[in-house]
This record gives sequence, structure tokens and C-alpha cells, in this order.
Amino acid sequence: MPTLKYKMYIDGNLEESSSKDYFDVVNPATEQIIAKVPKGTKEDAKKAIDAARESFDRGVWAGKMPAERSQVLWKLADLVEQNADRLARLESVNVGKTIKYSRNSDLPFIIDNFRFFSGTARMLEGKSAAEYSGMGTSIIRREPLGVVASIVPWNYPLYIAVWKIAPALAAGNSLVVKPASLTPLTLLEFTKLAEKAGIPKGVFNVVTGSGEIMGEELTRNKKVDMVAFTGDTETGKKIMASASSTVKRVHLELGGKAPLVVLPDADIETVAQGAVVGGFWNTGQDCTAVTRVLVHEDKYEQVSKTMAQKAKQFRLGDPLNKNTDMGPLVSGKQRERVENFIQKGVEEGAKVLTGGKRPEKLKRGFYLEPTILKDTTQDMTVCMEEVFGPVIAVYSYSKLGEAIEQANSVDYGLAASVYGKDITACMKVANQLDFGTVWINEHGILVSEMPHGGFKQSGFGKDQSLYSFEEYTRIKHVYIDLTGQARKPWHYTVFGKK
Ligand code: NDP
Repeated sequence: MPTLKYKMYIDGNLEESSSKDYFDVVNPATEQIIAKVPKGTKEDAKKAIDAARESFDRGVWAGKMPAERSQVLWKLADLVEQNADRLARLESVNVGKTIKYSRNSDLPFIIDNFRFFSGTARMLEGKSAAEYSGMGTSIIRREPLGVVASIVPWNYPLYIAVWKIAPALAAGNSLVVKPASLTPLTLLEFTKLAEKAGIPKGVFNVVTGSGEIMGEELTRNKKVDMVAFTGDTETGKKIMASASSTVKRVHLELGGKAPLVVLPDADIETVAQGAVVGGFWNTGQDCTAVTRVLVHEDKYEQVSKTMAQKAKQFRLGDPLNKNTDMGPLVSGKQRERVENFIQKGVEEGAKVLTGGKRPEKLKRGFYLEPTILKDTTQDMTVCMEEVFGPVIAVYSYSKLGEAIEQANSVDYGLAASVYGKDITACMKVANQLDFGTVWINEHGILVSEMPHGGFKQSGFGKDQSLYSFEEYTRIKHVYIDLTGQARKPWHYTVFGKK
């Protein structure tokens, strides 16, 4: 693949960085440079924010009829669909995710998200309109917020970006989006489709460059009304602090440490299958990935053994090969981070049941074997912190209360699952799990209609669903006097007689 040279997309124009500098983008499967992307500066971020602000204030998008916005978003979905093979391939090359995953999971979901939010564009509803004071009518207007800055991660570069772009545009906002520096390519390609679909100039902007530098401007600039972020919890804390200087709305989808709780009557095959698929998809680089499997002691040995057998069957290799089950990690740095967690786990007493090392046959690329750790305990670092790689820790419990307590004992609260044949028992556990999503006998299904977002240090604010749409709007109370009098019935409480 030849090295591609990209530009940022600001106010409908393709722009270099004001510094004229570029940074390299690498294919994690080959470790080769595949693209050069502008190293944006604060001035570039400011320029994009100004363009977004101006487009919003002129009402070129927010002022359109909801039906018109809806049509543009539907057209955008069609365009993404027509370009799905190309975008999926580029995503695989840039992230290292397998083509079967990017083409059959990321892309269809992106298209569906645009279609869902195309519908919500016509549902800017206020819940009440009536005479509450007895003297006038109150109505609620739901309005777009203004300018949204969105900072997105590298594990689902286009998919997670669309979780923010689709509801924000549906509600009538203007946006500046910054992709992760490791994986900016699909979002930059997507700008062409956004323009073709009819999103007016300035309404949708994409800037590239360091999170620390561009992020500072995007989260502090007065002209930005909201910051929508997905990424590391520590970065989320910095963003929250920075956005507080201008009291912006903040929407944070942060790390996770998903438990999978196995009840004594669970089917071993169903558990093992759910655990390895949920733990190793996207090479485990997923905030909802199964990271801890808590098994009743009666089934502990069988569950760990079956999981290990399945893990060994994962076919590692070229992400573009349709038969590959697992690609590399996104970068050398990420692989080292994951390896350090495994090593720490071993030092603290865990046993590597399978994996734990780089595959011998793959000399190039940031590959790591799918890893299952046994004899882990909840207090180990690998069970407390977000690893973000293909590592699952399995441990046993004797009393269900103890398992629930352990499952809930992490700082994160994004997603969890419970497996068992007795659905009443599963439901009771689901109610006690302190996580934003709980699946029963499944791990990982997301749909556009349902909210996705965490509790505790996994952040706040929901992606997808009508709840997400509402996050990108503000509520205004408008009151219309019906008395027609200069001196209103309540004025005597301030001056004069009744
Ligand atoms: P980050 O949170 O640093 O990166 C996510 C995004 O935030 C990127 O676009 C990044 O830009 C940007 N960013 C970085 N620093 C700032 C800042 N100070 N202000 C504003 N934006 C900023 O994640 P990492 O790439 O460092 O990954 C580290 C760990 O984070 C992973 O191992 C994983 O545990 C977790 N993570 C969780 C994700 C999730 O989905 N919940 C997604 C990604 C990571 P740039 O790329 O230019 O640095």
C-alpha cells in the first residue's frame, strides 16, 4: 500500500497544519508507515472551532427543517453503505482489527446508527406544555447545544466517532472531531462522504494532532459548548478539569473492567464461548470486553479448561484475511502495556493457562497470543485495572454474594454479564451488578436503540439511543402570558395591594 498523505477538514476545506508538520500512521500488522497526517496546532483547533461556531450561529444546519436534517443523515448512511468495503479495509489496515469484524460489525453498526439518528432528528420533543401557573402557558423547547467538540479513541475509530457525530448532527449542532493519532484515517475519509451527503461547510470539522495540544484547545475554548469523549479514565479526568473552566457540558465514556459471573447451573460451553468471544474481540481492546470470569467453584476447572481450549483455536494473522480471528494490538506501546499486566499478574501469583507471549510464527506486527490467567484473585493488579488487550482472568467463588461483591469492587462500572439457566437467579444478580449494561447469557450485544454508558469511573452520559440524542440538546422553558394584563395577579406580592 503506498503512503497516503491526508489533510484536515476545516470549514469545508482540506487544510494542512499551520506548522506544516505531519506525523506517521502505522499499520500495526506490518509495522510499516501507511500515511502521513497533519500535526495540527492550537491555531488549527481554534480555526475549526471558529468555523463550527460561525456555522451554528448562522443557522445553516440548526436552522434547517428537522426533515431536511433527517434526509441528509439518511443519505450519509447510504453513502457509508456504498463505501463500506473500502472503509472496513482501511479500518482493518490502520487498527489491526480483522476484516470480518470491521466489515460485518463496525460498518453495519455505523450505517444503522445514522439511520436511527436520522429518525430522531424529527423528534426534538419537549415533554410538557400546559397551564401550570393558571395565568399562562408553559412550553418546552428542545434545542441543539451549539458547538460540540468530540475526542475519540483508537479501538473503534469511525464507529465510536459516529456515536457522537450522528446524535450531535441530528439535534442540529456543529462539531469539531479529533480522532486518536494512531488511527485517524477512516474519519478523514469519512469527511468526503459527509460533504457529499450535504452537511454544510463549517458544520462538521475534523482536526488531527496530539490530544494534549489540540485537546487543551477543544476542551477550554469558550466557543465550545460540550465535550464528548471516549477513552482512558485518566484522560477523562483531565478533560473534565479543563472543561470546568468554562462550565461546559461533558459526556465521558471511559474505561471498563467487565466481569462475567457464572452461576452454578450455567452451561459450560455457553460460558466458555461467550467469554472468549467477549474477551478477545478486537484483540481485547474494548471497554466492555470480558476481563474477569467469576466461576462457581463446582465448575471452575471445567470452565477454565474449555476456555483455554477455545483460546488456542484463535487464528492469529493478517487482519485482511477473512479467516483471521485476531489481529495485532494497535501499537507496540499498547502490546508492552498488556505484557506488563500479564507479568505483574504472574508476579502476584496468577498462572498462565494459555497464551501470555508473542506468537512465534508472526515476527512482524504487534501480535500477542490470547491469554487466560488462572488462580487469580480480585486484589491482583490485572483484575483491578483496565488491561485493554486479549487477557482474561478466571477465578472461583463459593458464595454468590462474594462473587457480586468482587465483581462490583473495581472503580469501573461499564458492562457486565451473568450466565445461568435459572433466569430468575440471573435477573437477581443483574439487579445487583453496578454496571451500565448487564447482559444475561450473552456478552457484547449493542443496538442503536439502547443506551451505552457507564457508572462510577467509567464516566457518565449515554451513547446511542434517545438518551444520547438528549445529551446533545438543551431544554428551554418558554412561558406565554394569557392574562393580557399589565398588572399580573401576583404583582401585589412585590408591591401594592391585592
Ligand atoms: P487516551 O485516552 O489518551 O486517548 C483517547 C483520545 O484522547 C485520543 O484521541 C487522544 O489523542 C486524546 N487525548 C489524549 N490526551 C488528551 C488530553 N489531555 N486532552 C484531550 N484529549 C486527549 O488513551 P490512550 O491512547 O493513551 O490509551 C491508554 C489506555 O486508555 C488504554 O490502554 C485503555 O486502557 C484506555 N482506553 C480506553 C478506551 C475506551 O474505549 N474506553 C479507548 C482507548 C483507550 P492522541 O491519540 O493524539 O493522544
